Amino acid sequence: MSDTAIVWFRRDLRLADNPALDHARQRHEQVVPLFVFDPDTEAPWEPGAAGRWWLHRSLAELDQRLRGRGSRLVLAAGDPLEAIERVRKVCGAGAVYWNRVYEQRPVERDRSIKRELRERGLEVASFNASLLCEPWAGVKSDGDPYLVFTPFWKQMQKRWQPPAHHPEPRELEAPARWPASLELDRLGLLPDHEWPGKLSDYWSPGELGARRRLDDFADQAARYHEQRDRPDREGTSRLSPHLHWGEISPGQIVRALEPSGELPGGRGRMIFASELAWREFSHHLLWFFPRMPDESLKPAFRDFPWREPEDYGPDLVAWQRGRTGIPMVDAGMRELWATGWMHNRVRMIVASFLTKNLLVPWQEGARWFWDTLVDADLASNTQGWQWTAGCGADAAPYFRVFNPVLQGEKFDPRGDYVRRWCPELARRDAKNIHQPIDGGSSHYPGPIVDLKATRRRALEAWDAIRS
Ligand SMILES: Cc1cc2nc3c(=O)[nH]c(=O)nc-3n(C[C@H](O)[C@H](O)[C@H](O)COP(=O)(O)OP(=O)(O)OC[C@H]3O[C@@H](n4cnc5c(N)ncnc54)[C@H](O)[C@@H]3O)c2cc1C
Repeated sequence: MSDTAIVWFRRDLRLADNPALDHARQRHEQVVPLFVFDPDTEAPWEPGAAGRWWLHRSLAELDQRLRGRGSRLVLAAGDPLEAIERVRKVCGAGAVYWNRVYEQRPVERDRSIKRELRERGLEVASFNASLLCEPWAGVKSDGDPYLVFTPFWKQMQKRWQPPAHHPEPRELEAPARWPASLELDRLGLLPDHEWPGKLSDYWSPGELGARRRLDDFADQAARYHEQRDRPDREGTSRLSPHLHWGEISPGQIVRALEPSGELPGGRGRMIFASELAWREFSHHLLWFFPRMPDESLKPAFRDFPWREPEDYGPDLVAWQRGRTGIPMVDAGMRELWATGWMHNRVRMIVASFLTKNLLVPWQEGARWFWDTLVDADLASNTQGWQWTAGCGADAAPYFRVFNPVLQGEKFDPRGDYVRRWCPELARRDAKNIHQPIDGGSSHYPGPIVDLKATRRRALEAWDAIRS
């Protein structure tokens, strides 16, 4: 066996609980950490602007942490096989290890790279570092995938195994010669406009930021069920971008809540674990239905009478900018623009408004989220949009057109959330703050649609495809 192994980092930007890294460290003397920016394979779902900002910061942190252990991160861009080959030649590596990702095109790429490297005589192995259950592992007794969350989650609980843990290396021996590495800036991840710079007011990308988030959240996880639907409070973990980039594993999260690794007990922790299971369910669906990012899962929806782009264009822009005149929708869209994140309850409200009240195809919303969310994740984003639009697995019943005024009154009862993101409305009292202002005010627009009439229109559209 060769003395040197390459660890190809992808969406596992951490040193702790990293099975590929742990495997390399145990079996080889020297380890060469490599990251290859390969947007072509992921296109059209290569990281959006907010995701690229996050990636830049996270790679910088990973490199720093590796340097603290006597190593460094080698950066490359383009074809990963070529990058691996270049590194291998310089370092004489005889093995390549990585942790798996699950989207269709990267999977095809990885399979072909694995084959190719093995043919060239290298040892290759891949591992699960990002899910509690890999997407193909839990299927129904007839072998079909689950389409409904509750039975999916039940089988997950039944087959629950404490997640394995892989210790963080204290030191990593460097190869005799380091291969050339691109400068991080050369990856061109940071856009030239101002916006993403502000994201650092809210986020600390990287493994340490992820751990701090988890530590903070672990203390309040027991009360998760009381807080999680309240966008006016910090009642959820905000771990989603850290999870997406693999700066923390779901196994580490479970163990922070329940050190034995068994299913966390208590209502709050258990409901939180079920949210992690929604992430698993989303991956399960995307694995079995790889066309889901573009196509409605329910075939009837492929004939849904969406409006045409030339008709809905201005409404889509008003939605993106948080200028619809519906306070809860505008607050959510502005939170997204300011922070790269939006509370889950509000994601459902704004997605329902776009697809049902405005009759804009869900794919338009998913695209905007893709570019602006720091946690943009193909499986969860697709699933969230299809679920809310009513065309996905386990979809909300069709009659569930969220009323953004009532939702606001229920989940932001004092109006603090709206006040924070729509300062024009700050002086309205809690009783009125969620109501649209007919005709608008000098600062805030009137509603771009009538909520009742557009609700009726959505139900008629549904009736049309049902019959
Ligand atoms: C229209 C729409 C789009 C969405 N797009 C994304 C996306 O691109 N990326 C993303 O990670 N989540 C997405 N979600 C799911 C959910 O809104 C976020 O995961 C959650 O708001 C992240 O905040 P948190 O980390 O504080 O969540 P918490 O409530 O603390 O939950 C813990 C973790 O569980 C997972 N999770 C929670 N809810 C869901 C869910 N409904 N579906 C899948 N996983 C979930 C996340 O990884 C989250 O970090 C979307 C939901 C909707 C309705």
